Amino acid sequence: MSIQEQFPFAAHTLLPNLSYPTLRNAIQHRAKEFDLPLAQDSKTEIQLKTAYGTYRFWQGDEAPIAEIGSSRSDWLYVLKESLQDIVHELSPEIAKAIHWSDAQESAGNRPPNFQFITIEDVTALAGGFLRVTALAEDLSHFTTDSIHFRLALPDPERQEPQWPYLSDSGQTIWPKGEAALHRPVYTVRDMDISTSRLTFDIFVHEGGRATAWAQNVTPGTRVGLTGPGGGGIPEVNQITMYADETGFPAVARILEALEPNASGHVVLQQTCSASAHYPMPTHPGVSIEYVQESDSDLGDLAIETMRNRPDQMIWLAAEKAAAQKLRAAFKTEGLNTKEHYIAAYWTRPAISNTQG
Ligand SMILES: Cc1cc2nc3c(=O)[nH]c(=O)nc-3n(C[C@H](O)[C@H](O)[C@H](O)COP(=O)(O)OP(=O)(O)OC[C@H]3O[C@@H](n4cnc5c(N)ncnc54)[C@H](O)[C@@H]3O)c2cc1C
Repeated sequence: MSIQEQFPFAAHTLLPNLSYPTLRNAIQHRAKEFDLPLAQDSKTEIQLKTAYGTYRFWQGDEAPIAEIGSSRSDWLYVLKESLQDIVHELSPEIAKAIHWSDAQESAGNRPPNFQFITIEDVTALAGGFLRVTALAEDLSHFTTDSIHFRLALPDPERQEPQWPYLSDSGQTIWPKGEAALHRPVYTVRDMDISTSRLTFDIFVHEGGRATAWAQNVTPGTRVGLTGPGGGGIPEVNQITMYADETGFPAVARILEALEPNASGHVVLQQTCSASAHYPMPTHPGVSIEYVQESDSDLGDLAIETMRNRPDQMIWLAAEKAAAQKLRAAFKTEGLNTKEHYIAAYWTRPAISNTQG
């Protein structure tokens, strides 16, 4: 069955000057990296299945063709954006030449997963967090399957911020240079779809642009949001979670949503001593332990669980090094990460060797 027959939303584009073997190699690599199934993989066609829909690539008469299909228009857009990134890594020039078959319908519009939110309130929360409440335009796509989003923050000094739009070829044009938007990822801590009210918690850390924004923003300010995206609330009964402060809101959301008969353990790493006061919900079957960053490595702790507790779903959200260490251990042991969640929530800057 073709992609168009399978999905209500579909689009295709030529990928001129890209060889099919190079493309196939990139898709195989992607499938491996994210544990995604390849529905087909041959010298003439490759199909990749994702949570958002399906990609199909094949060698056309003039050039390889990419076709994507999804059950939702905003997911189709997410798939287009991911493909844009994959092709950009292979060749920025070829990525620029992407022209989606449905581009005319949407040219000039905002990207389908973009909306404005209006800030209602920012309050200090115990544990070194700021709680932001905002009114969104539409939260109906924010389900328990994807609980994260990106803010799109203009430079607060700019009088007239610029926002993204879709070009004649269906590509997203993001403001550049001084008009560029800062786009950090956050977790929906709470939401009410009927009133479109959204709450998220920002961990205050040194040098953070979103932190500085939240400390100074006034009610009524309008900023952008893209999403939802990322992981969701796991539907499991046995879970061991590891998180530093950036993952506390997601852990809180998961603890609230776990079934009453679920069991597990949560290890919360403190990079600052106050964060133990973050209002973390309790669950009767899940114990919570706090560890200090100075004497614990979340990657190592999670690896122990991987080795000794195969019954547990491992959920880890932390600095990139911990996530990479755990992923590498899964690979070394020949284990699949598909049933687990391993995510880098932030990246520590590389230490420079130059002095003075
Ligand atoms: C799926 C997902 C969900 C997330 N949910 C949340 C959430 O709900 N709440 C939350 O607070 N964060 C969350 N994060 C993490 C957040 O996106 C990052 O911390 C982001 O860098 C914050 O942007 P910023 O503008 O504050 O910092 P930036 O201006 O982007 O970075 C400035 C500097 O701060 C450093 N930095 C970033 N985070 C930290 C940190 N935690 N501690 C110390 N230094 C840091 C960076 O390395 C950089 O050097 C999430 C990330 C992901 C991927």
